[in-house]
Order: sequence, then structure tokens, then C-alpha cells
Amino acid sequence: MKKTAHNSSVLLIYTGGTIGMIENSETGVLENFNFEQLQKHIPELNRLDFQIDSYQFNPPMDSSDMIPEIWKELVRIINENYEKYTGFVILHGTDTMAYTASALSFMLEGLNKPVILTGSQLPIGVLRTDGKENLLTSIEIAAAQNNKGNPMVPEVCIFFENHLMRGNRTTKINADNFNAFRSFNYPALAEAGIHIRFNHVHIHTYKENQKLTPHLSLDSNIAVLKLFPGIQENVIAAILAIEGLRALVLETYGSGNAPRKPWFIRCLSEACHKGIVIVNITQCNSGTVEMERYETGYQLLQAGVVSGHDSTTESAVTKLMLLIGSGYSSQEIRERMNCSIAGEISV
Ligand code: ASP
Repeated sequence: MKKTAHNSSVLLIYTGGTIGMIENSETGVLENFNFEQLQKHIPELNRLDFQIDSYQFNPPMDSSDMIPEIWKELVRIINENYEKYTGFVILHGTDTMAYTASALSFMLEGLNKPVILTGSQLPIGVLRTDGKENLLTSIEIAAAQNNKGNPMVPEVCIFFENHLMRGNRTTKINADNFNAFRSFNYPALAEAGIHIRFNHVHIHTYKENQKLTPHLSLDSNIAVLKLFPGIQENVIAAILAIEGLRALVLETYGSGNAPRKPWFIRCLSEACHKGIVIVNITQCNSGTVEMERYETGYQLLQAGVVSGHDSTTESAVTKLMLLIGSGYSSQEIRERMNCSIAGEISV
């Protein structure tokens, strides 16, 4: 797209989503744009002093249609182009962006370069679009290097509405506002105002000579179950009896609490004995699971349920997919759920 003498280069991967849409001036209908149109709508791209190349998914997708096969495709594209670029920007629909960011953070083991996901609430062609700002700043962050020539942010992130967040810590929190993402349990990695201020202590450290190990095996035999007062035994029993189920993300109350009904504990305990990995995640946006705190949490621990700590649901689901896909035993998966593998939990 654009080349200058500056030695940074960014690969822009366009998967789809609202950001890539333009309002047809005659019909008012939102249509997908192609990359040739991008420069026309964002002439500011010409003022960025580095090389920007693009890769376009054809056809572009609404991120509600996201599947693990597309995550593998993204990992392949990044792996094949890894040496050629300073950083990567992925344009993605907002609906499942937090899942994709979480999945990529686990699949790209040893990542030493920025992979920044961004999108927008209003299409790029609309006058008040948030897409322009999100895209331009994401590209700047993906190209940013320190005075030693090393990337400023060598990890998978989401940039949205002036905030750079660790990808596997984010959740979509608003369907209307520009401020659509939040990282409740981990500080922002950077804030963009007049200057982009990096929060160095919270960013992964760049490691000289670290090699990228892409993981392409994912297994999605997983279910997510959100508790509510009055949930029936037949619902829990039916979910845990699903043929081939390997793991359940259980969304509990507060600091990881659940009903004390004997049938409930029996169902969970039998499933754990069968080898189903049950991970306890709090329904609260912020805070962590502490199963030792109340009797109602402790009984889950005794039944064999593993703590999800302060993980998001998106992160727990995709981490389980990777661990199951990698062929680990149930016990090995339980142990790894208790450790941070890409900065996804505070332990
Ligand atoms: N449905 C769209 C998507 O996720 C919404 C968006 O991009 O904001 O692809």
C-alpha cells in the first residue's frame, strides 16, 4: 500500500465486521469494502511513515460466524509472514473479538511481536466513525519500537476507543457505545491521547531470540453454563451427560459460589471423576474466584472443580480448547488452568 524509508512494516489483516463497511450513498445499505477503497476513505494512512501491506478475507465475515478454523487461518498467516513484519493489525467484528484475541494469545506461543485487533461500532464510511481512530492508532502501536529497535508491545491486544488492552483479558461490554471493550482485571497496556502512553510494567517483556511456536490443534467439546437461582437438576445432568464433553466452564456467583444442594454437588463430582474438567468462573465482571472463602465455594473445590481465578469466560473457553486440542489428560489440563500461560490470569 505505502512504502517509505522508515524500517517498520505492518501487515493489516481484514477479516470483516462493521469497521470494513461503507454506506452505499444511493441505497443507505451497509456494504463490505475492499482494500483499494480503504485508502480513499482514510487518506491519513498516507501520512504514516512505514510500509503497510494488506491481506483480505474473501468474503469478509461477520464475527458472529467466527469458528476455530478461522483462528487457525489467522495463525497460519501470522506465522508465514512473521519475519517480514514489525507487527500485525487484525480488523475484526466486535462481537467475538475478545474470543479471537484470547484464542490467538494461546495459539501463538512465544509471540515476540504486536498482534493488535481492532474494529469499530460505526462503519469506516460513516461521518462519525470510530473506525478511523481505532485503525490508525492500532497501526501506530503495531509499528512502535523502542530505542533498541524492539517492539513496544510483543503480545496479542485489543485496541479500542483509546485503550490498548491485553487480548485475553478483554470482554465486549457495550453494544452501542464507542467504549465497547473493557479489561476488568488487568490494567490497560497503553492509553492514546495526545501521545500514546505505554504502561511498560504490565506489558509482556520482549525476549531476544524467542521463537514463535504456532499451535493449530483446538478441540471445542466444551460447554458454558451460567447458574441462576432455581436451576434444575435435569439441566445440569443433561449438560454433563453430553457425549464427548471434555470441559465445562461454570459461571458461578460472587467469589465462586454455588448452591449447596446435594444433587448439585453429586452431579459435578461424578462428572469430575469421569474426567470432565469443570472450571469455576465468576459471573461478576470484576474480581476473582476464591473457593476457600465460603462453604458454598469450598464444596465445589472438594467435588474436583478447578478455579478459573480472575479469567474471562472468553479466555477460559479458548484456553480449554487449546489444552484439550493439544492432547493433555484431564489432570494435566486442571494443572495448567491453575497457571498463567499467556498472562490471562493473576496467580
Ligand atoms: N456483527 C458485527 C461483527 O461482529 C458487529 C461489529 O463488527 O461491531 O462482525
